[in-house]
Amino acid sequence: MACSAWGWLPREIPELEIYLPSRMGDLLDYLAGEGRGASIIAGGTDIIPAMRRGALRPRRLVDITGLRELRYVKHDNGIVRIGALTAVSQLVSSVAWLGRRYYCFKAMDIHFGSWSIRNMATVGGNISSGGERDLVQVFHVLEGYARIKSREGERIAPAWRPELREDEIITEVFFKDLGKNSWTWFNKLEMRAANGIGIVTVSLMLRLDDNYVVDEIRIALNRVRGREAGRAHEAERFLTGKRIGYEMLREAMEVMEREISPASDFRASGEFRREASKILTRRAIEAAAKMITGGEA
Ligand SMILES: Cc1cc2nc3c(=O)[nH]c(=O)nc-3n(C[C@H](O)[C@H](O)[C@H](O)COP(=O)(O)OP(=O)(O)OC[C@H]3O[C@@H](n4cnc5c(N)ncnc54)[C@H](O)[C@@H]3O)c2cc1C
Repeated sequence: MACSAWGWLPREIPELEIYLPSRMGDLLDYLAGEGRGASIIAGGTDIIPAMRRGALRPRRLVDITGLRELRYVKHDNGIVRIGALTAVSQLVSSVAWLGRRYYCFKAMDIHFGSWSIRNMATVGGNISSGGERDLVQVFHVLEGYARIKSREGERIAPAWRPELREDEIITEVFFKDLGKNSWTWFNKLEMRAANGIGIVTVSLMLRLDDNYVVDEIRIALNRVRGREAGRAHEAERFLTGKRIGYEMLREAMEVMEREISPASDFRASGEFRREASKILTRRAIEAAAKMITGGEA
């Protein structure tokens, strides 16, 4: 049966072929050859619900969980590297040795799905699903890049917009380690606690100089224009070179208000989203500045 008698109930998934490679070379050959058009499955937390809704009907799945070499978080000559099969829960625990400034990862423990979803959901799957997914926004402020492989070779693309071909796989995400006086933040306003896509999410990277002046700031929102996620570049430009303070943050949020125009949907109006984005961003900047300065800013 392809469809439930009740339109809103999950559908049964039709019979399909599943390929389980244990070597990268075999996987790339399969995707470029007999498995062309097959869908990759990692944690399955996005693709299985999509198949049950009938939004996706692949005839073949490639289960990549046998490629154990893609599960890691490492620090390598000033570069942080995260394997595509790293689970969100593994990313959360890595903060213990990566450093507390990666609070953006720690925050996933509060905001990303449930305990079981965090154990299954992978970094590569989140990036590939794109759009409003939480790690997409986080890697945008970390300026992370995705390493993408196919039988033709390797390419690097922004992790927040990898634009994959059907024969390609993301193998890792990497970014330059943040230096001293930096802090990251992630905040999410959601309808149900930690169980899906946020109404508003704010990701932040803040670096202050020794005089507590903003050296660099990156702000990513899940909705900047319409349904599009992106950076609040005008607010970033306004804040750079200024000392964090009450009045300056108020003005910065006015700049952001003019810059963003999020779309309305059944979860919230665009107007509500704009207001919430300002409040969450302001709180994120204040919290990050406090963490960098030990409460003096
Ligand atoms: C109850 C629930 C709560 C959730 N909560 C959140 C949340 O709070 N925040 C959030 O961001 N998301 C959330 N999600 C969505 C989902 O958990 C994440 O997007 C997750 O990171 C997807 O990873 P996965 O390994 O499960 O991907 P899969 O479902 O296995 O795959 C997702 C997509 O990515 C492709 N893919 C997977 N790995 C690769 C790879 N290495 N290279 C190329 N393509 C690949 C697949 O082909 C598929 O198209 C939730 C989902 C559920 C069911």
